[in-house]
This record gives sequence, C-alpha cells and structure tokens, in this order.
Amino acid sequence: KPVIFSGMQPSSDSLQLGNFIGALSQWTKMQEDYDAIFCVVNMHAITVPQDPQGLVERTRRTAAQYIAAGIDPAKSTLFIQSHVPAHAQLAWVLNTITGFGEASRMTQFKDKSQKNGTDAASVGLFTYPVLMAADILLYQAETVPVGEDQRQHVELTRDLANRFNSRFGDTFVVPEAQIPKTVAKIYDLQNPTAKMSKSAETEAGLIKVLDPANVTKKKIMRAVTDDGTEIRFDRAEKPGVSNLLTILSVLGERSVASLETEFTGKGYGHLKQAVAEVVEETLAPVRARTEELMADPAELDRLLARGAERANDIANRTLDLVYERVGLMR
Ligand code: ATP
Ligand code: MG
Repeated sequence: KPVIFSGMQPSSDSLQLGNFIGALSQWTKMQEDYDAIFCVVNMHAITVPQDPQGLVERTRRTAAQYIAAGIDPAKSTLFIQSHVPAHAQLAWVLNTITGFGEASRMTQFKDKSQKNGTDAASVGLFTYPVLMAADILLYQAETVPVGEDQRQHVELTRDLANRFNSRFGDTFVVPEAQIPKTVAKIYDLQNPTAKMSKSAETEAGLIKVLDPANVTKKKIMRAVTDDGTEIRFDRAEKPGVSNLLTILSVLGERSVASLETEFTGKGYGHLKQAVAEVVEETLAPVRARTEELMADPAELDRLLARGAERANDIANRTLDLVYERVGLMR
C-alpha cells in the first residue's frame, strides 16, 4: 500500500474546526486504502513559548482527538514525534542542505514571528519546515494530506528530497501534498480573511472541537458577517458569509449553490443557526469519545507506545541509509 504521513501540533487543549475539515476528515477516509502514519508533532509545538506541564496534557488530548475522529490505531500507525529520535536526527542533516534564503521565504515563519518580531522568534520556529520535511521523508510517504496553509512546506519537502537524491544518490520518495479541492481552508469567524488557528491570540473566532455546545453556538452567532443582507458566496466581497457557507456546505454535504438558493431572502441569523446545528452534530460525538479516551490515560499511552515502536522501525531504516549516504560513520 502507498504510504501517507501527516501530523498536528499539540499547541492547544483542543483541535479547531479547520484541523478537522482540512486534515483529520481526509485522514480517516484515507487510512483504509493507505499505509497511514499519523503523528502528534510535539517537537514542533515547542518552537513557540509553551508550558511544559500543559504540553503533556495537550499531547495526549491531541492523540485522543485523532482516535475520537476515527483514526484506528490498529489500522494506522499513531505516535508521538519525540518518541522517535530519528526526526531530530534527519532534520539536522536536512538543515545542512537547506538554503538560508529558501528557508526565509516560508510564509508561516513570517506570520508566526510577526507577533513579537523576528528577533524574539526562535531559530526552531525558523527551521520548523525542515523538521516537517524530516517527518515526512523518514517514512517514504508518497502523499501528505494537509490543509492549504501547508502547501508551501510540502513544496520545500519535495525540493529537499530531490536535492538530497541528486547529491547523494536515490534515497527519498518525493512526496506530494493532498489538499482538499473544495474546502482547503477555514477562516477565523472574527477575522474571515485570516485562517482559523488553534493557537490564535483571541478565541472569539475559533471553533474548538472540545468546547461545550453553547460556547461554540455563541461564537457562531457572533461571527462577523458583511455589509448588506444577501447570502451568497463571494470570497472577496463577503468573506464572512462565504466562510459560513463553506462550513455548512462541507459538514452538511450540500453544494454551496443549493445553499444560496435555500437562503435567498433569509437573514444572516438563519444561516448562522444552520451552521451552529451542523457543527454541533459533527463535533458532539468526537467530544464525547475524546473524554472517554482521556479517562484512561494509561491505555492511551500504551497505544502510543505501540505506535512509536512501529514508527521507530521504519524511521531508523531511512536514517541509517541517510547517514551512510552522507558519510556519517556509524
Ligand atoms: P497552530 O496555530 O499551532 O499552528 P493550527 O490550527 O494551524 O495550529 P497545525 O497543527 O499547524 O494547526 O496544523 C494541523 C493541520 O491542520 C495541517 O494539516 C493544516 O494544514 C490543517 N489546518 C490548520 N488550520 C487550518 C484551516 N484553517 N483550514 C484548513 N486546514 C487547516
Ligand atoms: Mg499551523
């Protein structure tokens, strides 16, 4: 079976709707037909200021949400990044073939370092995409199911794989991003031109998978809409309404066109109401299952340890080959 790899950062106590739509819902479908490898990328999560105690809890919670959303640890390899040292080891080697200018062009670093200025940002945040390349290349993944915001990082991964292969001999499979065609990006409810992010500074525009129903409903009812009253999809003129239509369309499995027809002559409140309903229908079972899994952390840790064992086997094979190719004496 072809290999897929993907991961999420345990950077919050809950995943957000964009993670669910852009990534997780693809993963659960793909695990049937692929050799699927899913990682909680905790080493990426320490590239910004963080709380160590909280990180442990968030790491378990992230893994629990994968399973709650439908990732089956018996079918897929599910593990914690730091349990597989080869990620850091390969990242170092890849750092040495990454151009400084090339890394400087990554827009996520620009976005994430904007808050406190690049001087305050860590070098780890700067080389984040190189660690991500290592994550993917270690498993010889052909396909990387991610949201639109990760396109540039997968592109860098391809460049690094090709460069390594041509300098040191064929070693890596060159992976391809798989990005959902219709809904690749969910936007913040309060700032509908910025992507929804679990580590957003303000939570008012963030739909968290684990939030209670009433909290999420309130946020949706207060979502920023646009001037006028018309409900139609128009990203440029009506980003707020378009984002709500997107969410309703993908979770309700209906075309945007049929929604535009249905909501003709109706107010924004009707649209928001419908969005709140479908979001609750989708997230309620995930929430319930996550709480069940979190009630037995020992069992969860056992599943993750088993996943790490499998992941270490695959990753070390690739790492051995890489060390040999670059002349690092074993
Ligand atoms: P952070 O703010 O810590 O970066 P995040 O919400 O961006 O968190 P990540 O862990 O960086 O989440 O990414 C996990 C996956 O979710 C990636 O595949 C990413 O492409 C996808 N993703 C993140 N945000 C969105 C979004 N708004 N719409 C669609 N997909 C998204
Ligand atoms: Mg992100």
